[in-house]
Amino acid sequence: MLTGRMMDFPLTLTHFLDRARTFFGDAEIVSRQPDKSLHRSTYADFSRRTRQLAEALTRLGVKPGERVASLCWNHTRHLELYFAVPSMGAVLHTLNLRLHPGDLAYIARHAEDRVIVVDRSLLPLLEKFIGEVPGVRHVIVVPDDGPVPEGRLDYERLLAAEPGAFVFPPLDERSAAMLCYTSGTTGNPKGVLFSHRSIVLHTLAECMADTFGIGEADAVLPVVPMFHAAAWGMPFAALFTGAKIVLPGPHLDPASLLDLMAGERVTLAAGVPTLWLGILALLDQAPTRWDLTSVRGMLIGGSAAPQAMIEGFELRHGLRVTHAWGMTELQPVGSIARPRPRHQGLGPSERFALRATQGYALPFVELRHVSDTGEVLPRDGTTMGELEARGPWVASSYFGDEGADRFTADGWFKTGDVVTLDAEGFVRITDRSKDVIKSGGEWISSVALENALMAHPAVLEAAVFAGRDAKWDERPLAAVVFKPGQVATPEELAAHLSGHFAKWWLPDDYLFLAQIPRTSTGKFLKTKLREEHGDHLLKKARGER
Ligand code: ADP
Repeated sequence: MLTGRMMDFPLTLTHFLDRARTFFGDAEIVSRQPDKSLHRSTYADFSRRTRQLAEALTRLGVKPGERVASLCWNHTRHLELYFAVPSMGAVLHTLNLRLHPGDLAYIARHAEDRVIVVDRSLLPLLEKFIGEVPGVRHVIVVPDDGPVPEGRLDYERLLAAEPGAFVFPPLDERSAAMLCYTSGTTGNPKGVLFSHRSIVLHTLAECMADTFGIGEADAVLPVVPMFHAAAWGMPFAALFTGAKIVLPGPHLDPASLLDLMAGERVTLAAGVPTLWLGILALLDQAPTRWDLTSVRGMLIGGSAAPQAMIEGFELRHGLRVTHAWGMTELQPVGSIARPRPRHQGLGPSERFALRATQGYALPFVELRHVSDTGEVLPRDGTTMGELEARGPWVASSYFGDEGADRFTADGWFKTGDVVTLDAEGFVRITDRSKDVIKSGGEWISSVALENALMAHPAVLEAAVFAGRDAKWDERPLAAVVFKPGQVATPEELAAHLSGHFAKWWLPDDYLFLAQIPRTSTGKFLKTKLREEHGDHLLKKARGER
């Protein structure tokens, strides 16, 4: 091999910090506090404070590779942790504040967290599990909603005691930077250990014009929690480009988010579909209440964005949705549903349909789908199989021993998503393998059915799941939540679906619920639906209700 004569310059987050300080000192960070006031600072403040934080953590004995955990909302200090901890050579482990204390104890022990930084408002949660995590040496409290209780380490006091002269050490780009656990929707939470290199490359891909196109002129609002899959990398993309960053703190209701989007002239916001469904419903009620002319896009992913929602935002409110697919194991973005120039000839409904797919792979992500026996399937748009991925920001194994069966001998990661791939490489998710409905041996796509149900004018949310059935083994059941003041009968819903699907795909019954149970990251929790209503059809057949 003739080796190229170029520098082996490490791809690390330290460079993001240097760049932010050198070029973007006046870029703004706006962070909403628990009392709803806005805290404003700049990247110059941020640069100083990340150095102070690194000094303080070093003084507390944090060593390279050790895990520093955060139990925090999306706010400025969490952003400081995002950069100070990895850049000093340690690993930031983001704890999911919506998990059960028992799960948090398991995860914090599994991660071997040595320090936990916690919002004062979340101290009651921490106190429920900290006793079960003996390896934690220090708890640092962020005074988010009031002063830090006596006897506790105070984040602000720790920083104030430091000069901010920290020199970040040179790092190997392959060293670990961040540890994120999957939320355990399908089994025990598993740790995914991002490296500096993987974060840098994922950031570059997110900033490309043909992906999210994040740049200095943007004001980004990650509504997606910073404790979940690194807020889809948006904090990194913001720091990297000098974009303004707006952080919502604990206020995630639709009106508060719309206030923030309008007030801070947000250009790009990101979150899961359940969140956007609420925002769309509110905009439909009060279409002129917010000035959203600054918004150039809304990134939606984490579960399937219903086509009706994408259309509703664009046609009724002039707001453009970009639908993306990903998972924690891909840090998380893997594909994006953007129509390409070659799709210009498509009619409006075909374009919307394309934008409701999971899209095509980002550069450096390779996707294929395989049969039960591991045979690679044709990209014909109809054959269903399990999606597999590989690339520089795809996990090569989990942190710990779990989940070895998710990695194939020939170097691919098994996503657990059941999909079709078409000739252009567009992915369409029909289900997660755990949620698949197998009726008489044939697969029925719950995702396709619920998308169609959510296009009914009376339906706010719908989740389709497998109900046990004496004859067919499983049959689809639909859980439906109506918009306020609206209803529809099962017959009307069935009639709405019947034009689009084969008769045997239609749900056997409709359950009208006040709310669909959600996972800790806001996705529909189908395991709970199956637990509570899985026997509905058997009971109905027996004449019980
Ligand atoms: P968890 O497994 O805890 O839900 P993740 O947040 O990493 O953790 O979820 C990844 C999964 O979310 C994917 O495997 C896929 O099933 C689902 N998902 C993510 N984005 C989309 C999307 N755009 N459309 C459909 N499903 C999606």
